[in-house]
Amino acid sequence: MVRPLLRAARYVPTSLHDGVHVAAADEDAFTEIVTALERIEPLASTPGSATDIELVAPFPEDLSWAFGVVVGSDVSLVFGESTGAALAASLTAAERGSGPDCLVLVSDGPPVRPPDPSTGGGSAGPAGAAAFLFREGVGQSLEGQLESVRAEPSALSAAFELGRRLAPSEPGIWCGEWVTDEAQGPSLDPAASVQFREVDPNRVSEGAYVPADRYRESLPSRWRFVAEKCSECGALTFPARGTCRNCGRRERLLPEPLPVNGLEVVATTVIGSGGQPTEFDPQVQALGAYEVVLAQVAPGVRVTLQVADAEPGSIRIGDRVDTRLRRLYPLEGEWRYGRKAVPSVRRTTA
Ligand SMILES: [Zn+2]
Repeated sequence: MVRPLLRAARYVPTSLHDGVHVAAADEDAFTEIVTALERIEPLASTPGSATDIELVAPFPEDLSWAFGVVVGSDVSLVFGESTGAALAASLTAAERGSGPDCLVLVSDGPPVRPPDPSTGGGSAGPAGAAAFLFREGVGQSLEGQLESVRAEPSALSAAFELGRRLAPSEPGIWCGEWVTDEAQGPSLDPAASVQFREVDPNRVSEGAYVPADRYRESLPSRWRFVAEKCSECGALTFPARGTCRNCGRRERLLPEPLPVNGLEVVATTVIGSGGQPTEFDPQVQALGAYEVVLAQVAPGVRVTLQVADAEPGSIRIGDRVDTRLRRLYPLEGEWRYGRKAVPSVRRTTA
């Protein structure tokens, strides 16, 4: 049984330091992987089936559940080291394995925890992440293509090199920009970045306190923009809360994914120092003022989003924004994540 490569996507942060792409202050290995993964279209797995994940990145095992939320199914994770040899082994295992789906996810981004002073302003290798989806059926075989991958010290460099080599021949499989560089975003102050990354995640928030269990329950809404559609009156409720906001019905509410990219901005404001909710204190102390936009996700559904990867005040009403999963603030020993708006990129689709 062979499970060929169906899709691959990469993500390179737009933030720059000394002309080199580096992770933004609110990015880490998890957010970078999710962004790469979300560029794979279509990602949806067979409903009800589990997804095998080979994770070639630094990641705490007790946060495995977070990938289940991202993928929208049960996941079974295998952890590998961030080397080319480990990546080659994972790609081979994915291709030769059984079961409907296997994802190989690669990043050398800043660690999810604990804060590590040595990795603040971006690492020495390339920044970003890569995601590979293997599925039973038709796709590209990587047989005989992994010699140079094995020889690379860095898994991410190896992944990017593999894409540069194979993407031109199979543009339908290798989604997005594997050969050329990504768009250039704002330049990053590495000191501010480090200051934000090193915030103690055990600090106590005095702001809008959302207990961990309630936070996790709402993650499909927060992380993937999944609303509930009422099969009685057709109204969309977002964030989902188990009750139709129009008719109050609690039964037959069906999950309805809303778009996460190309949202129209209907209002915008810049939050200066002192105007922020207290859970955002560490961010404002490190990075200064930030912009918040109100964006239309679906008819009658609007969301408030912090802006990332842009100078505060640069987004205008009527602009389109894409959204990305990013770090929001630390609470109870871990980072809370949510979607933020970034300037819309018109990507060339294969
Ligand atoms: Zn209803």
